Amino acid sequence: MNQRFATATNIVAEVSSGARSAVDVVDEHLARIATDDGEIHAFNTVTADAARARAAEIDELVASGSEPGPLAGVPIALKDNMCTRGVRTTCSSKILEEWVPPYNATVVERLAEAGAVVVGKTNLDEFAMGSSTENSAFGPTRNPLDTGRVPGGSSGGSAAAVAAGFASLSLGSDTGGSIRQPAALCGLVGVKPTYGAVSRYGLIAFASSLDQIGPFAHTVGDAALIYDVLAGHDPRDSTSIVQPQASVLTDLGAPIDGLRVGVVKELSGQGNEAFEPAVVQAAADAAEALASAGAKVEDVSIPSAVAGLSAYYMIAPAEASSNLARYDGVRYGLRHDGPNTAAMMRASRTAGFGDEVKRRIMLGTYALSAGYYDAFYGKAQRIRTLMIQEFDEIYQNYDVLLSPTSPCVAFEFGAKADPLTMYYNDVCTIPSNLTGHPAISVPFGLGQAGLPIGVQILGPMLSEPRLFQVAAALEEVAPR
Ligand code: GLN
Repeated sequence: MNQRFATATNIVAEVSSGARSAVDVVDEHLARIATDDGEIHAFNTVTADAARARAAEIDELVASGSEPGPLAGVPIALKDNMCTRGVRTTCSSKILEEWVPPYNATVVERLAEAGAVVVGKTNLDEFAMGSSTENSAFGPTRNPLDTGRVPGGSSGGSAAAVAAGFASLSLGSDTGGSIRQPAALCGLVGVKPTYGAVSRYGLIAFASSLDQIGPFAHTVGDAALIYDVLAGHDPRDSTSIVQPQASVLTDLGAPIDGLRVGVVKELSGQGNEAFEPAVVQAAADAAEALASAGAKVEDVSIPSAVAGLSAYYMIAPAEASSNLARYDGVRYGLRHDGPNTAAMMRASRTAGFGDEVKRRIMLGTYALSAGYYDAFYGKAQRIRTLMIQEFDEIYQNYDVLLSPTSPCVAFEFGAKADPLTMYYNDVCTIPSNLTGHPAISVPFGLGQAGLPIGVQILGPMLSEPRLFQVAAALEEVAPR
């Protein structure tokens, strides 16, 4: 972890015991935003006044002897694709630049009840489409560890906010890797929950069958603290899992003796030039470290895993092309007038969407069009089913799987200008979005230019308690 900043766990202990005021904590974070965010650009909107007012309320609760909640006084940043009542929610798109939602996302409500203090809304690749935050309509976010490089994406602002000490925790959304990859590139822990474990109500949709909200944190313990607040059934999200979910704090620190760990050959990067050698080595070292800690580690093969990338870049754009049809100049956001309705819609969408969003809409529309549907969308769905079967079969014999999170460490701006090179960045993260399974990225070692590497732990549906347990074990033995 970054030793410069207090953990959320510490902040909660201090604030709820009255040792430190929540106002003091939030002021410290707002001061860092004021001095450094001009360069980093983690935020689209900073909600300083509301944050101070909320922190003062938390302090009053503590003073009056009331229970201030499990995240008491923790400054938190929200990706700007989660609805916040009265605070603009832009998706880093011109089309929603001025849009102010009339309601809160469920996660926002849960955080408020838990005593967290929202400090602002963070930058992202427009509509969460990208892996570097270079696709934001409002300009890129810089990686606080090296400002000449990207923080990853699409939740790059949320990752940078935590890495720069602007917020102690943040939320991102992960459709194909957008929490785990920026976590890896910024030296943080990032969690993609089981599909349906955390409510999507109020998350602006990119690809609804893949999107999940999850946290960024400095430590596995901090990620577990917020995860328990976020997870749970929400009747407002029809895909929300109804069955109760076990706390992920319970098994933190429990020994991993005898745990069966599979190293996914197809995702290991071995013999693959697109992977940075230090990344391949770090994942191998992580496997060995788990073995030394008592786990039974073996190589496993999941042949369909490599097809995930192609299937994803059919399914995600297909769903996006449908979800983004609602931005028509009538119901939401930007409107450019024209001589008739069709011309008005065309002008609004042409002006409102950036290049990558337009590319996805066109790809998706094509994949769904009559005559091509079976060859593209249908085939991608068959790959998805095959992947679910192959992963489920492997999980009969293994508790968790291991792979690198991203093929490389944080890269320089403009280094992956060709879309296919950029898309390849998601090769290791995409499978768990397609299968719906959870995954965590944990910092493990350093690569090129001394930048952090992330190792990914994958598990079957609702295996979060196990994933957090293994993540904590890995954090314990990670080279520092
Ligand atoms: N980089 C991937 C994409 O561009 C994933 C994005 C995400 O998870 N939101 O689609």
